Amino acid sequence: MAEYKSDLLIIGSGPAGYTAGIYAARAGINALIVAGAQKGGQLIRSSIVENFPGFSEALSGYDLMEKIHQQAINLGVKIIDDEITEVDFYDHPFVCSSASGNSFMSKAIIIATGASVKWLGLPSEQKYIGHGVSSCATCDGFLYRGKEVAVIGGGNSALEQALYLTNYVEKVYLIHRRHSFNAEHVVQKRIFENRKITIFWNNVVDEIIGTENPLEVTGIRIRNVKSDKKKYLDVSGVFVAIGHHPNTEMFRRYLHLDSGGYIVVKPQGNATDIPGVYAAGDVCNPYRQAVIAAGCGARAALQAISEL
Ligand code: NAP
Repeated sequence: MAEYKSDLLIIGSGPAGYTAGIYAARAGINALIVAGAQKGGQLIRSSIVENFPGFSEALSGYDLMEKIHQQAINLGVKIIDDEITEVDFYDHPFVCSSASGNSFMSKAIIIATGASVKWLGLPSEQKYIGHGVSSCATCDGFLYRGKEVAVIGGGNSALEQALYLTNYVEKVYLIHRRHSFNAEHVVQKRIFENRKITIFWNNVVDEIIGTENPLEVTGIRIRNVKSDKKKYLDVSGVFVAIGHHPNTEMFRRYLHLDSGGYIVVKPQGNATDIPGVYAAGDVCNPYRQAVIAAGCGARAALQAISEL
């Protein structure tokens, strides 16, 4: 068990957290990043990033986060591989404790805990997570080489996962509950042009079916929400990409959250209701854009530094 003291504690290591750390280090502030359970944040699961400025060629989310991590290290950012599990914002300096039993005392805090994957909520989905059900095509796509898979969702994440999977699989069934996608035009165009992808509009997944021993997905039953017609699809993998929810449970008793669970920050900045506590990135906005998160991280750090 260790006791850490800092002027600025940054909770989370996605683009927002790292950028906040970079700005704090360059300002000579005694700052610490506690990386969290998924170092690098959600972006490490992104197959392709082509809209982060500064890279003329597309790169994977993992590679982008590796570069940002290295940049932070080179600038002297201190990063602890641990996860904050409890915060106390009633007293000042604030005290947080971690999964490893460490305690962190700090004058200011930037919350950059990001967001987590939403699941469909089917018992069969829970049963087969890690055995054919996944939320990450980049991580698991190669397991389905030559097979048929389904992707659920109609946003950017689902469409990008479907496209990525066509590098490995024979066929992708894209299941969406409505008759239009809410993804960028350029991504939709690639989907419509890809002959390995078959779209099932107005359909939801009723059940994921598989074997017991070994636990393996063998298919899904989908239902047309307009006609109620059911259909069985033979698939070995199911990729759920229906959005995310912000990781804010730990802060609920201290901070104002909106109806989506996002931390409410004051206009023109990243300050929360509690002086000295700031929020940045996906935890306080639903855009899920690395560049926006990075910008928020920079702004939160500048604000924290000026108010220390
Ligand atoms: P999203 O845009 O919220 O899309 C979620 C999709 O899942 C929607 O099509 C939604 O259907 C569907 N859905 C939600 N709950 C469902 C349920 N229970 N059952 C079946 N379908 C369900 O989420 P996202 O795709 O993760 O994207 C989130 C944000 O990140 C967006 O702003 C997106 O542009 C951004 N993003 C950007 C990039 C990029 O720039 N490269 C990559 C990924 C994500 P409805 O449409 O019917 O609600």
